[in-house]
Amino acid sequence: MNAFQALGLNEQLVQAITDLGFENPTPIQEQAIPVLLSGTTDFVGLAQTGTGKTAAFGLPLLHLIDPAQRHPQALIVCPTRELCLQITNDLMIFMKHTKGVYTEAVYGGTSIMMQIKNLRKGVHIVIATPGRLIDLIERKAIDLQKVKYVVLDEADEMLNMGFRDDIDFVLKNTINRESIWLFSATMPPEVRAIAKNFMENPKEITVGKKNSGNANIDHQFMTVAAHQRYEALKRVIDFNPGMYGIIFTRTKLDAQDIAEKLTREGYEIEALHGDLTQQQRDKVMGRFRQKHLQLLIATDVAARGIDVDGITHVINYELPDDIEVYTHRSGRTARAGKTGICLSICHSRETFKIKQLERMVNSQFHKIDVPSGKEVCRKQFFHFMDKLMSADVSNGDYETYMPDLQEKFKDITKEEILQRVASLEFDHFLKYYENAQDLNTNMRAPAMDGNFTPRDNDSRKERSNFNQRDNGYTRLFINLGTKDGFYKANFLQFILDESNLKKRSAWQS
Ligand code: AMP
Repeated sequence: MNAFQALGLNEQLVQAITDLGFENPTPIQEQAIPVLLSGTTDFVGLAQTGTGKTAAFGLPLLHLIDPAQRHPQALIVCPTRELCLQITNDLMIFMKHTKGVYTEAVYGGTSIMMQIKNLRKGVHIVIATPGRLIDLIERKAIDLQKVKYVVLDEADEMLNMGFRDDIDFVLKNTINRESIWLFSATMPPEVRAIAKNFMENPKEITVGKKNSGNANIDHQFMTVAAHQRYEALKRVIDFNPGMYGIIFTRTKLDAQDIAEKLTREGYEIEALHGDLTQQQRDKVMGRFRQKHLQLLIATDVAARGIDVDGITHVINYELPDDIEVYTHRSGRTARAGKTGICLSICHSRETFKIKQLERMVNSQFHKIDVPSGKEVCRKQFFHFMDKLMSADVSNGDYETYMPDLQEKFKDITKEEILQRVASLEFDHFLKYYENAQDLNTNMRAPAMDGNFTPRDNDSRKERSNFNQRDNGYTRLFINLGTKDGFYKANFLQFILDESNLKKRSAWQS
């Protein structure tokens, strides 16, 4: 018997999963599906994105829907338009052999009239973002009276985004429901409160450890002076020519600036941030998904709900203020059983944050060196040579040129040809990295390929000077103390009041 059949799913769904090539259920599917198929059990699933949670709730939901009852029987609420569309798309795929079940995705940033029209035709499953859903409820354009199943996907994200009241409102407006299925990557007190206030004896399932990261993610960090972050980022990109990655920044301005700079320098990158129109966002995401773009640079808000398979690297240009955001960032890689790297470019004074992150994701972080200019050039060089060796020459009529070419190259050796090809391709790299300085602000650590790299005297000198020349921080001397009635807390408050610095309480131990 097929493993999905054994979980109790109907034939049509099993057929669709087989067509998809899913052979075995993922751990969350294995544990959630039998519980959810009962239809009446409240459920809390602690699972990151990438664990197969969409199928974990989507398949039992489709199994339970009665096509003959043409009104909303299930409501899926999720934080973003992207996730909304993605869930809808996944459901369509799972419904390949299921007849007569209709879904409607409702989200902001697009015409509400069209959505209202589609809802009126009669749909079984509504997939919604909270804001648009409330709008539809207030316009009485959606009837939630007969909703049996409410799914809250990425509940922690929705609460982070300030949708708490909206979720309460939705739950209060689905009084005839039979169960709530809540999925969340983390379990902050606000999520716990939803379970406490609205659920009855929920069955709780955790995939991996609570609040822990995915074991397939290799968490790495490097330490550089704050003003060298951009240069370090470039080295990382150049050192990983096959990278397909997302770079996270804290601000829109940084995302925009870095994308512009890198584009000018010839990298395939675009920024995703809140100032883009929905159309622009869709275009960027489309290009990234199709791998026409190698790199995406995003703010946390803009990247919510992004689900792209095969991301090799997540790079934190800076660590996030909120440590839980780290889990969301790193969860964009190592999806569906693949491995991935989450690399943070840190300032040496941020290493205490690494300790907190290690505790949170329950995994050791690996310190790596920013690769030297020489290492980058070598890596690029061999990457190019590998490409040269694997180039497919079967499509062109190259044979016809051979006699002339052989004549042209008759006095030149293979080594010389290789050198010339290399010089054409690499002169700009070699020039750029000719006098590249060591960007590390720490003692020796293994390089990205695991080898130790020797350092020269200059770089050591530079490291010893970094405290003075690091312009990312300002040192203040204040000649007041407790005798003057000046305590640490007053002082911190004074600085926070007088500046627009945000309190980073999440990081304070
Ligand atoms: P999700 O966590 O729902 O975003 O799923 C992450 C990825 O895993 C998606 O690309 C799914 O298509 C894939 N996936 C889900 N379930 C399975 C499975 N049982 N076997 C293989 N791939 C799966």
